[in-house]
Amino acid sequence: MIASVSTVADPIVEVKALTRHFGAKAALDNVSISIPRGMVFGLVGANGAGKTTLIKHVLGLLKAEMGSVRVFGRDPVADPADVLARIGYVSEEHDLPGWMRVWELMRYTQAFFPKWDATYAEELRVRFDLDPAAKIKHLSRGQRARAGLLVALAHRPELLVLDEPSAGLDPIVRRDILEAIIRAIADEGRTVLFSSHLLHEVERVSDHVTMINLGKIVFSAALDEIKATHRCLTLHFAEARVRPPQLAGVLTWEGAGHEWTAVCHGQAAELQAAAASCGAQVLDKRVPSLDEIFVARVGTRIPAAAED
Ligand code: ATP
Repeated sequence: MIASVSTVADPIVEVKALTRHFGAKAALDNVSISIPRGMVFGLVGANGAGKTTLIKHVLGLLKAEMGSVRVFGRDPVADPADVLARIGYVSEEHDLPGWMRVWELMRYTQAFFPKWDATYAEELRVRFDLDPAAKIKHLSRGQRARAGLLVALAHRPELLVLDEPSAGLDPIVRRDILEAIIRAIADEGRTVLFSSHLLHEVERVSDHVTMINLGKIVFSAALDEIKATHRCLTLHFAEARVRPPQLAGVLTWEGAGHEWTAVCHGQAAELQAAAASCGAQVLDKRVPSLDEIFVARVGTRIPAAAED
């Protein structure tokens, strides 16, 4: 028998029809994703959508109840040492041992990763402005996030997994984290799986966006394609309307009377022709934000309190 060998063209992460229940509740329902090498893959959803549960399967911390998970072509539950040595992971809680000093954390983590790059680690420490003698428990939340990112990046992982890396952090730290992600990708053509409820952040860094809600994938496409195929049209109707017309491609309507705004999916020319066919004049046409597309697709906004 010939053993299967993964090739450069194979996806780094391949999840097929993954379902996971906690009691009666489906935290993941028939979820499939495929992440090729070199992609920044943004996973977006509100709290409780299933993002962390999906990430835990990728890390081999949960075993697939139904469906399959492959990372670097391997099963992360059956082959954890091999898979985890090639992953850098930053958790939502930035859970690092509080009693360690920054330099101890670096030395300790280095022991687990043969590919640890001490020069790069030191560069990141300086860049993230971390005092090597500071105890982790005395660091601010933002400094802890930077320390977590440092130890996740310094072994130059093939796959970087970031679970809500900037939740609760100030915008400057967010920018540090985002820049580090972009740099990691740009410098070495590595792969990032990035979960967030901050849609503007995902929009800045992702190549591909997957929207998840209540354990189900609602929409998944390349960011360029999402931008090219969604439009926000504001229409003027000669006669005031109680409700908007039925137009192919419209995901949501907002408005009243003469003026209605639609978030649509489809080619711009076709959408405009459809609007004209029901006697509407296009007052404004623009590319909607990822936030507007999320609301149109999922039906709810991510609560404002969770945004910052
Ligand atoms: P958050 O950002 O709030 O963590 P999330 O999108 O990462 O949100 P998950 O943590 O994956 O969501 O949770 C998905 C659902 O599964 C939620 O309803 C959550 O309450 C439930 N859940 C997750 N882990 C467990 C567990 N160990 N036991 C019971 N229910 C769980």
